[in-house]
Amino acid sequence: MSFCTAINCMDGRVQLPVIHFLQKRFGAEYVDAVTEPGPNRILSEQAEKNTIESILHRVGISVHKHGSKGIAMVGHYDCAGNPAGKDEQDSQTRTAVAFLKEHFGDTEIIALWVDEDWKVSEMS
Ligand SMILES: [Zn+2]
Repeated sequence: MSFCTAINCMDGRVQLPVIHFLQKRFGAEYVDAVTEPGPNRILSEQAEKNTIESILHRVGISVHKHGSKGIAMVGHYDCAGNPAGKDEQDSQTRTAVAFLKEHFGDTEIIALWVDEDWKVSEMS
């Protein structure tokens, strides 16, 4: 069994596209799902401390108990939990990845954007 981890929005439209993308990207059978409304905003703003602790706890289980092969931080078009446009979201996603690297430095962490056609692309 192999796992990777998605820190994704709870939005139902982005679940399957991200799962399929990550199964291929990390060569993993299963994608552990850590979902919040607009998690890139939450992790970049650092205002909701309890939510951040909860996210780190859940990602930690995926990394330490499931041996996750990689973590993806996801932002998406038309996000109800994050009203920011694509450029600002991309910047938040990068900030969130930097924060996650402080906690999970031994695991590969990538940044994803899901566009208006629900197509997933990896940010450089
Ligand atoms: Zn969303």
